[in-house]
Amino acid sequence: MISLDKLSKRFGDNVVLKDITTNFPEKETTVILGPSGSGKSTLLRSLNLLEKPESGIYKLDDLTIDFSKPISSKTTLDLRQRTEMVFQGFNLFPHLTVLKNIIEGPVHVLKTPKDQAIQEAKQLLASVGLAEKEDAYPAQLSGGQAQRVAIARSLAMHPEYILLDEPTSALDPELELEVLKVLLKIHNENQSMVIVTHNMAFAKQVANKILFIEHGDARYDGPTDGFFNSDDARIKSFIASMT
Ligand code: ATP
Ligand code: MG
Repeated sequence: MISLDKLSKRFGDNVVLKDITTNFPEKETTVILGPSGSGKSTLLRSLNLLEKPESGIYKLDDLTIDFSKPISSKTTLDLRQRTEMVFQGFNLFPHLTVLKNIIEGPVHVLKTPKDQAIQEAKQLLASVGLAEKEDAYPAQLSGGQAQRVAIARSLAMHPEYILLDEPTSALDPELELEVLKVLLKIHNENQSMVIVTHNMAFAKQVANKILFIEHGDARYDGPTDGFFNSDDARIKSFIASMT
């Protein structure tokens, strides 16, 4: 499980995360919600060390990071392998086919034998509904297909956690649906995930827990039902504004 204790992050005078204490349970999906600029991306990026908070303790099972101390490159590498950020599909290598994009990490980083990596990549492509696209190049894919390849590529690394920041924000509603279906499927397979989204219907469907952030404060941290049925006026107005 990932747990955070009093995580704080500022950009200059702008305090973006204020003593965030929370956890992201294993085999569950946590959805981070909140208004624009509330600190959602900063928090998610901190889980992958793409942002470095000034203080706080980050634990992933046996691994502990104290942000007030220097972080070794070994720890950074270890953590980045265990928590995989899915970037939008346009982060795929343009000169490699879909299949080669997926086996790149397993073969070069995990040292998986190539035959085995190819077998697994084919299975992953089938599971995201793109078996027939293995020889296509990224430029030949729709936005939704590219995003599904990006998800398959992340899964090929067998991370403990998959982190997604507005995975469908660049997509038309129809393509968005294809990607959300894939995420729902991965969720049903008990992949641990942390997702930032503005899609309330999806959040309701996929989240085991909701973390609602406002001005860098965790305003709600608990079960999904409790959030959507909250009596808190601020939470009610946020939900109303988003739906
Ligand atoms: P959105 O819903 O619009 O994506 P968000 O909740 O993801 O918003 P963040 O991107 O985490 O918000 O930003 C939180 C605050 O931190 C904002 O005030 C933003 O301007 C500031 N911020 C984010 N990244 C940087 C940066 N690299 N340098 C300076 N300020 C930053
Ligand atoms: Mg953001």
